[in-house]
Amino acid sequence: MKIVMLGAPGAGKGTQAKMIAETYGIPHVSTGDIFRANIKGGTPLGMEAKTYMDKGALVPDELTVRILLDRVAQDDCKNGYVLDGFPRTIPQAEVLDAELDKLGDKIDYAIDVEVPDENIVKRMGGRRACLSCGATYHIVHIPPKQEGICDKCGSELVLRDDDKEETVMKRLAVYHEQTQPLIDFYTKKGVLKTVDGTVDSTDVFAAIRGILD
Ligand code: ADP
Ligand code: AMP
Repeated sequence: MKIVMLGAPGAGKGTQAKMIAETYGIPHVSTGDIFRANIKGGTPLGMEAKTYMDKGALVPDELTVRILLDRVAQDDCKNGYVLDGFPRTIPQAEVLDAELDKLGDKIDYAIDVEVPDENIVKRMGGRRACLSCGATYHIVHIPPKQEGICDKCGSELVLRDDDKEETVMKRLAVYHEQTQPLIDFYTKKGVLKTVDGTVDSTDVFAAIRGILD
């Protein structure tokens, strides 16, 4: 099963993608996590990606597509995957489609997690991320057991640099301009499914299970 998660930054794509990955036994592939791991490791890729991420801009398609295609070519992806944060532009979606087409394959579901802009800004200020294992929390809605510490690996939780309000506003504008057109793209392919992302995360996941089961 090959799944694409759509939705604004902070809509809950990562939260749901992790639950899908665990429940259906497929890898969670997040381009944002791959970039952050590279930033943490100080690699040239990370340094380049950081210049765009810090501004709330998208990393150029060429670079992003290359890292994504390398990742999904790995062995653990051969029975499917859930993509979180990719594609974010029409050219990215077209390359993915063309690559899958060569293999006689396709995306089975594009799940759009719908959350209005006004909820997003509030959510992002409360997001706390573990840069070691990629886990994500919310200080009110999905808190860790111990404040500031990751439940899964015990590392310190941080407010991401790009989750500051000013950058969030920029990311939202970029989403509407460059990523939202993908809703049309996947509707035309007949694979778009929409879920209400404003309800509790367990209820969002119940709706997703209703689609995938
Ligand atoms: P995305 O991957 O789309 O950027 P996240 O999954 O990281 O979004 O979620 C953004 C923030 O909102 C996180 O702090 C997360 O814990 C929180 N969150 C996720 N789903 C919900 C929900 N249904 N209700 C309230 N908060 C949520
Ligand atoms: P995310 O973790 O998905 O919120 O992504 C964080 C940041 O990484 C984004 O704001 C972009 O700067 C960059 N990024 C992640 N995925 C992509 C993508 N598919 N295309 C371009 N930039 C991306």
